Amino acid sequence: MSYLSFSSVQRHIFNPGPQTTGRTARGCATPEQNVGMVDERAVTELTLDPADWESFRALAHRMVDDALDEIRTVRDKPAYLAPPTEIKRRILDEAVPLEPQGEEAVYEQFLEDVLPYRNGNISPRFYGWVMGNGFPMGFMADMLASMMNPHLAGLNQSPRFVEEKVIDWFRELMGFPETTSGLLLSGGSMANLTGLAVARYVKAGFDVKADGLWQSKLLTVYASPETHSWAKKTMHLFGMGERALRLVPCNSDFTMDVDALRRLVREDKAAGHKPIAVLGTAGTVNTGATDDLDAIADVCAEEDLWLHVDGAFGALVAISPKLKHIVKGMDRADSVGFDLHKWMYLPFECACLLVRDGEAHRDTFSNSATYLQIFDRGVVAGGIPFADRGIELTRGFKALKAWMSLKAYGFNRFAGLIEQNVAQALALSEMVTREPLLELTAPVALNIVCFRFVAPGLSLEDLNWLNQEILYMLQERGIAVPSSTVLDGRFCLRAALVNHRTRHEDLENLVKSSIELGKERMNSLPAK
Ligand SMILES: *Cc1c(COP(=O)(O)O)cnc(C)c1O
Repeated sequence: MSYLSFSSVQRHIFNPGPQTTGRTARGCATPEQNVGMVDERAVTELTLDPADWESFRALAHRMVDDALDEIRTVRDKPAYLAPPTEIKRRILDEAVPLEPQGEEAVYEQFLEDVLPYRNGNISPRFYGWVMGNGFPMGFMADMLASMMNPHLAGLNQSPRFVEEKVIDWFRELMGFPETTSGLLLSGGSMANLTGLAVARYVKAGFDVKADGLWQSKLLTVYASPETHSWAKKTMHLFGMGERALRLVPCNSDFTMDVDALRRLVREDKAAGHKPIAVLGTAGTVNTGATDDLDAIADVCAEEDLWLHVDGAFGALVAISPKLKHIVKGMDRADSVGFDLHKWMYLPFECACLLVRDGEAHRDTFSNSATYLQIFDRGVVAGGIPFADRGIELTRGFKALKAWMSLKAYGFNRFAGLIEQNVAQALALSEMVTREPLLELTAPVALNIVCFRFVAPGLSLEDLNWLNQEILYMLQERGIAVPSSTVLDGRFCLRAALVNHRTRHEDLENLVKSSIELGKERMNSLPAK
């Protein structure tokens, strides 16, 4: 008996193909004709497992070997290689592949068309934005996670305990109590958004889940202009509106002016609004500045506000005894979001959210039926705690790469790497300061160095053009990948050190190349 012997009731699901002949009056094949069709299909049941395991094994071993070689030799390759038009077209112009091309052929195309043309963040000379690098133990664990392919809503399985444990280690190192719950998410944006959802649920003053924002007061949230763009997107998405995101001015070191925060909250209350949360940042994306989290926590306590800390990369300094002081007060937050794919160097994607009040976290997202229903046996024993802490139901096994890597190398190795990056940022800023043709454009607060090329007699406009040219050329020639930012109207290069492969010589080369390219392009300033 085959799975494909359908009852006559089910037959209508298959639209009879052109080969089906002899329809009955109602458009169904006669029983005799169906027997023929079913038998034909039953002999070749389909599957996606390899037809020939031994040849697939050989290919799989090649993939692993090639992957390891790629990383081992990444230092010798350009930091960035833009995809040539011809390759881009080869990918984009392909028709829908209805027929098989074969495993090997696709792998060959990957090697040729995909692998070389990446954004560069696995290179030792990549300092753009804040992107981690990944490492072999991390990607091998990801492969194993993908092989197991468990469903991480929760359930009675070891992967669930692995995720709980990873969250718990960060909880402990960041000084949160045992009432804390957490969740691994795809990135900092999602972790922060999820934290703000809990804040809104707890602090709105009415049942947001039941009533929505229909007829609600303006629920105001406070953040500095240096806050990452996830905050605006979240206000849009939550229907709270950008108008409710109150921008608190910064001090000259790009941290939030806490006195201004206090004033603004009181003004909003007096105006009849409902302040709910403050977003503090540990490590801003522009300059690496960390808000005075202790002082912000005081304001939150006085004014009954939720403190969410966006610690996308900066929160991780909490694992270093030497740098921990920078995030003093973070352990007073109601929630904190941080990435493991930035300053824990794990392959994309992986971030973590911690919420001090685990019950509030669950109540924000659960539908009472899900967690109250007790199953004490079988696969569903213990319920679906992770699905009850966020909006995703089907979740992959992100925790495995974190768990295996943290155990393999120990948290101290990661703390050492974070300290090394901070030391490198200081070294780079000193090199910049020593060069007459370069200028530091922001104080180095952590691991981000903003600088620009300067030459006497050039206008702001010329310098902005020139520095943008330097940026393009560094990237296009594959020399290095810094990113850029604009500080007080000045276009500058920005190096964010979250790279475990970077060496001192790479930074010397960045300084040297920036000067050389600046001099080279100075002769071709656009005519006015
Ligand atoms: C990167 C970053 C984010 C966003 O995190 P993703 O992982 O890219 O979603 C948020 N805040 C800060 C400060 C960041 O650096």
